[in-house]
Amino acid sequence: MNRRFFLKTASLCGMTAAAGLAARVAFGQSAPASIEPGADSVLLVVDTQNCFTSGGTLAVKDGEQIVPVINRIGKAFANVVLTQDWHPRGHVSFASSHPGKKPFDTVHLSYGTQVLWPDHCIQGTEDAGLRQDLDVPQAQLIIRKGYHKNVDSYSAFMEADRHTSTGLGVYLKAHGIRRVFVTGLATDFCVANSALDARAEGFDVYVIEDATRAVDLNGSLAEAWDAMRRAGVKRIQSSDLRLVSGPVKS
Ligand SMILES: [Zn+2]
Repeated sequence: MNRRFFLKTASLCGMTAAAGLAARVAFGQSAPASIEPGADSVLLVVDTQNCFTSGGTLAVKDGEQIVPVINRIGKAFANVVLTQDWHPRGHVSFASSHPGKKPFDTVHLSYGTQVLWPDHCIQGTEDAGLRQDLDVPQAQLIIRKGYHKNVDSYSAFMEADRHTSTGLGVYLKAHGIRRVFVTGLATDFCVANSALDARAEGFDVYVIEDATRAVDLNGSLAEAWDAMRRAGVKRIQSSDLRLVSGPVKS
């Protein structure tokens, strides 16, 4: 985590046709709706929870607007994995756990700088629940993260100590997954960190921009997109996906 882009903003989570398409989408330009999810693809839905949407303890502006987008594109994916921020009371990422500190301050922990947040997504509470309007019933795995009291985890793949794996990379490879399509909250924290770690694990990674929303603190969103671009993460829109012939029919 201490080598990640977002910590700089913490003071406040003969070319082939295919190569040509990849080059266009990598730079955020429009491309034909020709990216077709297949059996080698997974839709990763990051932290689409009550806590991060309107009325939640750490609401991302307009966060709930991604749900209809995820529901629509989700029908094209046979493989869907959800993540859930899932903290015990007194978690190290909470400002309330550090006397004299307030939300969006930072502290230095053994694994690096930690942004402090309001208490959020506490295990077993309604606030930590998945959005009830999220409709991807074929999802086969929910990765809960941030449940170690003294370690945060923005990424779906690796906790903030950068040593503790969630096991997701191994799971996806065991199921023949090569392409990871990332959606959810928030673009510049848990989505970006999950996308970067998916690249580090060797997956082909797409972030579906209109299926995410950002916190955007002190330029963190632009930094996140820059880091993802440099890592080879492809930035696409849901309209770039060809959904009609997906493996799951509605
Ligand atoms: Zn959290």
